[in-house]
Amino acid sequence: MPLFEFLAGHALAFSLCAGLLGLLIGSFLNVVIYRLPQIMQRDWQAQAREVLELPPAPKAQTFNLVLPNSSCPSCGHEIRPWENIPLISYLFLRGKCSNCKAPIGKRYPLVELACGLLSGYVAWHFGFTWQAGAMLVLAWGLLAMSLIDADHQLLPDVLVLPLLWLGLIVNYFGLFTSLEDALWGAIAGYLSLWSVYWLFKLITGKEGMGYGDFKLLAMLGAWGGWQILPLTILLSSLVGAVLGVIMLRLRGSDAGTPIPFGPYLAIAGWIALLWGDAITGSYLKFAGF
Ligand SMILES: [Zn+2]
Repeated sequence: MPLFEFLAGHALAFSLCAGLLGLLIGSFLNVVIYRLPQIMQRDWQAQAREVLELPPAPKAQTFNLVLPNSSCPSCGHEIRPWENIPLISYLFLRGKCSNCKAPIGKRYPLVELACGLLSGYVAWHFGFTWQAGAMLVLAWGLLAMSLIDADHQLLPDVLVLPLLWLGLIVNYFGLFTSLEDALWGAIAGYLSLWSVYWLFKLITGKEGMGYGDFKLLAMLGAWGGWQILPLTILLSSLVGAVLGVIMLRLRGSDAGTPIPFGPYLAIAGWIALLWGDAITGSYLKFAGF
C-alpha cells in the first residue's frame, strides 16, 4: 500500500493523520461519554423490573450509541452533519445552537481537541508501528472512561474489561512487555487495590474506592506489565493531589462530593506506560544508584 509506505516514512504526516482521526474519534467519544451511562441506567431499570416481577416499561424510543441522531438538549433541534464537524463547527457556531442559541457545552470541543492532540502525540511517540495502533485504542478508551467516572463515579465494565483483554492480547505478541509480566500485572493490579480497599474498610468502615478502580489498575497492568504498577500508584496520588488543588481553586471547597479515583489512575497509568522507564531511570540516577 503506497499510503502506508508514505506514512511509515513521514513521521509528521503520520502524526497529523492520527491527530485528525483523533478529532473525529473525540467527537464519537462525546457521544459515548454522554449516552453510555444512560444506556446502562435503562438496562438496570429493565433488569430491576424483571426481578421485582413488574410489567416491562412501555417500549421507549430506540436509544443507543448511533440512534437517535444528536439533538440540542434545549430545543431538540436535530444536529445537521455540517454542525457536527469536530472543533470547526463549534467555532463556526460560536458555541451556540444554530436554532435556539443556547450555549453548547465547552467540554465537547475540549474532548475533541484533547483526543486529537493525544492521538497525534501517540503517533509521534511510537512512529508507524503496531504499538501506535494499540496505544491509540487505549488512549481513546481511557479518555472515555475517565470522563464517565468523573461524571458518574462509574467505570463501565464494557469499556474496562475489553481493554484488559486487549492488553493481554497485544502482549501475547510482546508489543509492550512479555505475556508473563502482563498477566502478573493484571493480577497484581487488581489485588493491590482490592487489599487497600478491604484494609481501609476494616479500619474506617468506609469505602474508599470501587471495584471499577481495581479492574482499571488490572487493565493498566495488563498493558505495561507488573513493573509499571508501583509508579502508577505513586503518580496517581500525585496527579490526584495536583488536580484536587486545581479543582478546589476552580470550584471552591465542597469536601462532601465523592472524588472518583479512576481519572487519576488513568492519567498515572498513561504516564507510566509512555515515560515510566525514563522517570524511573532519572530517579535512580538522582538517588545515586
Ligand atoms: Zn437549540
